[in-house]
Amino acid sequence: MQTILNYINGKLCEPVAGNYIDNVEPATGLIYSRCPRSNQADLDEAIKASANAFSTWRDAPLEQRAKVLSRIADIIENRLDELALAESKDNGKPVSLAKAVDIPRAAANFRFFAQAITQFSSESHSMPGEAINYTLRDPIGTVGCISPWNLPLYLFTWKIAPAIAAGNCVIAKPSEVTPMTAFLLSEICIEAGLPPGVLNIIHGMGAEIGDALCRSLEIKAISFTGGTSTGKHIAEVAAPMFKKLSLELGGKNPAVVFADCNIDKTVDGVLRSAFANQGQICLCGSRIYVERAIYDEFKTRLVEKAKALVVGDPEVSSTGVGALVSKAHMEKVLSYIELAKSEGGRLLCGGEQVHLEGRCDNGFFVAPTLFEGLSNHCRTNQEEIFGPVATLQPFDSDEQAIELANDSQYGLAASIWTNNLARSQRLSREIKTGIVWVNCWLLRDLRTPFGGMKSSGVGREGGLEVLRFFTEPKNVCIATT
Ligand code: NDP
Repeated sequence: MQTILNYINGKLCEPVAGNYIDNVEPATGLIYSRCPRSNQADLDEAIKASANAFSTWRDAPLEQRAKVLSRIADIIENRLDELALAESKDNGKPVSLAKAVDIPRAAANFRFFAQAITQFSSESHSMPGEAINYTLRDPIGTVGCISPWNLPLYLFTWKIAPAIAAGNCVIAKPSEVTPMTAFLLSEICIEAGLPPGVLNIIHGMGAEIGDALCRSLEIKAISFTGGTSTGKHIAEVAAPMFKKLSLELGGKNPAVVFADCNIDKTVDGVLRSAFANQGQICLCGSRIYVERAIYDEFKTRLVEKAKALVVGDPEVSSTGVGALVSKAHMEKVLSYIELAKSEGGRLLCGGEQVHLEGRCDNGFFVAPTLFEGLSNHCRTNQEEIFGPVATLQPFDSDEQAIELANDSQYGLAASIWTNNLARSQRLSREIKTGIVWVNCWLLRDLRTPFGGMKSSGVGREGGLEVLRFFTEPKNVCIATT
């Protein structure tokens, strides 16, 4: 059985107390590796290492930082097949998805911020005849990065790459549910020549080592992606210490389909947005609103395509829907399916665990599930299920579509499907989400701000926004007379 190790001060190391957590392959339900259950002693080592590394890394020429980041990107690309297989085994997602999306994006994160840091600039403000102000953007020191299990390497590197590009040292904690590719990243960083202590990866339980990280006075900023209730807890812990916080939290995202859309493209887009990664993407469209004039046709076509999705072994190339990440999560998703039924939902497809034969007979598979006939106020339509479950509702006007889309505590992302340009502009303005896609979904340009409103979080990552987050602005005023 493979043993995952912490990465501290440039070395792979056992947890100080010698405790480990079993790591399960979701497609088989079997334990296949173990990862450290780190504690304060491991964190102390990481804090020491990052503090030692900081002044040298902070003062390293930008080109040097960029070069190391680019080397990391190169190695990730060279190890694409191995990393995709590892991500799939650890998370349950189809290998094909990990190979097309997760791992290329992890490489792109490093490559993008290697370049972005060389283009980052700050402002100056002249007071004619009196003084010149210039704003320094210094790295903060040691920062914490905490990421979830749904897009393990993709989201982990989305935080780490800008943090170290900006000259910080990082202590990062991946989800204990999916630690494998974070471990492989440790090996990659060693091979790429990242100086010891610049990045430290400690594995363990969120409520233990994650919490300790947030409470540490040495950690000056935290970038967190995960559930809204965890985000709230972290905000409560960190706020009295005045830490900088970036919180990327949950979503319950609307997909709004108008009768004037390109229906072929829209059915495919909405299907993907509901079920990609088994519906375990914070950006998934799980509330599907369809203009009444095409409701029946759209529903029939969507259900037909959802039924045709192949639920299967993530390692098989024809598989479209893999396993959910854990037994506990599968049970949570199945309980929401029962809830939807008890709330009066009409099941259109799916609605059950899928039992596969052979290697995956104990895996955590759920059929793509669609409901209709539920009110917008019911729990099924208000709470984040984070699985392959979506609902359909008809609407009659633009105003009603906006009202339904905004009737949520969340405000992460929305997709609007229409060929009416003025309508798309109006809805984009009126819908209260941090991201709006028109006639597309999950199309990402890494230069753009990324994040949510309301209970979906605080702050923006992506592009130069995140470089601002990971730096402290300091104004210097020089008298000129
Ligand atoms: P959690 O909030 O449970 O966990 C996220 C991370 O936080 C994990 O590494 C977890 O560790 C850690 N953690 C848990 N408790 C604490 C704590 N008290 N202090 C510090 N760290 C802690 O989320 P999930 O992993 O279940 O991920 C799913 C959630 O993430 C969904 O709500 C989803 O919407 C959201 N998400 C948001 C995104 C966005 O960009 N807005 C993108 C992707 C997902 P451990 O796993 O070891 O418990």
